[in-house]
Amino acid sequence: MSATLPAASDPPGASGDTADGHAGVQAWSVFCAWAADELGLVLKTEGPAYLLEAPPAADDPETPPPLRRSWFRRRGAEAAPGEEALPEPPLVTTDAHRLVDELLRRLRERGEVTHARPERQPEAVHELSARLFDAYELDGEGRAHLAGFHLDDTPLVLLVSVLGDATPEVRLRYYDELGAPLPWDEATPLGLDRLAPIGDAAPRLDNGRRDRMLESAHRAAREAGVAPIDLAAIVWAKRAWGRIRFDFGDQSVDAEFDGWARTLRAPKVVCPLTGVETYHLATVHGGKIAAADQIAVCAVTGHRRVRSDLEACAATGELAEPDALVECPVTLQRVLPSQIDRCRLCEQRVSRPACPDNVCRACREKSRVGADDERIVRLLQEHPGLAGWGHWRLSQTRDVLIVEASRRLRNVLLVLRRDTLEPVRAMASLRVASSWRPLSPEQQQRLLR
Ligand SMILES: [Zn+2]
Repeated sequence: MSATLPAASDPPGASGDTADGHAGVQAWSVFCAWAADELGLVLKTEGPAYLLEAPPAADDPETPPPLRRSWFRRRGAEAAPGEEALPEPPLVTTDAHRLVDELLRRLRERGEVTHARPERQPEAVHELSARLFDAYELDGEGRAHLAGFHLDDTPLVLLVSVLGDATPEVRLRYYDELGAPLPWDEATPLGLDRLAPIGDAAPRLDNGRRDRMLESAHRAAREAGVAPIDLAAIVWAKRAWGRIRFDFGDQSVDAEFDGWARTLRAPKVVCPLTGVETYHLATVHGGKIAAADQIAVCAVTGHRRVRSDLEACAATGELAEPDALVECPVTLQRVLPSQIDRCRLCEQRVSRPACPDNVCRACREKSRVGADDERIVRLLQEHPGLAGWGHWRLSQTRDVLIVEASRRLRNVLLVLRRDTLEPVRAMASLRVASSWRPLSPEQQQRLLR
């Protein structure tokens, strides 16, 4: 039924904002094709003229003429009883304005509000589901499915204004249910610049609601100075809403969507563990779902965890589960177990950067202190045998005191628990030598008593 008019002087399709930003200029030929289709009329060209006429009668009487909502039928219904309505004669004109006006008149004279739909928009789930699912990347056994899908028809009010001098300029303006204008650059992606008859598929719209919608749109148009208004129609655009469910084993997470079906985009999923929005899901150790780019592997256990649950090794920067890291008693930094060395003097387990050549920083960097240092005073109270020693040098770590002292030609090196001053290790060396040798328990006892 659709008619195609050659219209060299016409803009292609429908486009262009007018000054108020809410109106689009539709090619008049496109408008006429829809209007004729809606009226059940045939529109064609004959030379320089446009011809608008009733469709030829069907040869097969079983086939009803495609006039379900036609102007002719309405006219027939309005005829007085016993009087047969006469169809209007065909219109032949070279004046495009005349053609447009005639179609508008016939649409208005049907006495009911015209309903329409975008020529192209998704009509079923499968037209959208692929577009939705294609957006996601699911690692491992992840799979996505629709956990709810609704395709609702949403009514909009269309106001048509026809202006223009030589050629008609058909302006379309859309308003939502409350009379808020829909910007033209939002209307075109919804296909509202190309309409098709909706026929008996038009959803039910009770008259009160319809009238309120029309009134709101007219009021908004009036306030914006829109004139003339040659036609008001209801256009049904599809909205899609629902949720996509992502299953990984016994875990699942949903993403909700709600938007115009024509322009619907897959919603990002909110990562349940980090709150980050993503299109790429995976699982962590234990099976919980998370955004894939938020997951890292523990350098110790190999467990997959979200980064925020991991801690960086202070020596290498590698990530690991906090329980898998070890605190260095010298630097108090937390490092991977592989980054721990044992100091050959104090025998503490120290992070490698603080333990070059297996001598820790605490053993290397002892400070000279006087015998009145409160720690030395305590040490001498605890171990009176040390009273004859001097040249105190001391350092302390989280766990131990490291004390070096000299007497005559000998040095001693003591490692004592910080809390109890209980000796952990005792060594001695000759002052001229650099190597320490451990004291036997008896020697240690003699030294300290
Ligand atoms: Zn050490």
